[in-house]
Amino acid sequence: MSDCIFCKIANGEIPSHKVYEDECCIAILDVCPVAKGHTLVIPKQHAQDLFALSEEEAAEIMKRVRHVAGLLSDGLKPDGVNLMQNNGAAAGQTVMHFHMHVIPRFAGDDVKINWHMPQADTETLAALCKEITG
Ligand code: AMP
Ligand code: ZN
Repeated sequence: MSDCIFCKIANGEIPSHKVYEDECCIAILDVCPVAKGHTLVIPKQHAQDLFALSEEEAAEIMKRVRHVAGLLSDGLKPDGVNLMQNNGAAAGQTVMHFHMHVIPRFAGDDVKINWHMPQADTETLAALCKEITG
């Protein structure tokens, strides 16, 4: 897509700090890293979000995510790694070209994934299960 920033990065029209590339994907350092080494794995072919990918494409991208997480782990020696992926503006997606965040985590770092997680009761979970599975 001509007006997509990640397509432009994948095409080399916009510079980036690339830590990995193959025929399927690039992995670049996020310009606004939430942690040291915050990296984005981006398929070269434009797809808006998870639902625009075939199962095969999703599986191929996930292989690269695993590989890049390994590169970051070997290079930066983090204590853990978060994978994050946003679909839709309501979920925090700001660049409408599928990408996976790979976020190295260091013990005692200041990264906050601030989900409030109230305990749900069994009835609520059962009703929800029915709503989802039909
Ligand atoms: P999301 O909110 O999941 O759509 O994430 C988009 C991410 O892309 C954000 O973390 C941005 O900091 C990052 N980003 C936007 N433009 C660039 C760019 N030119 N190079 C690297 N990262 C970028
Ligand atoms: Zn794109």
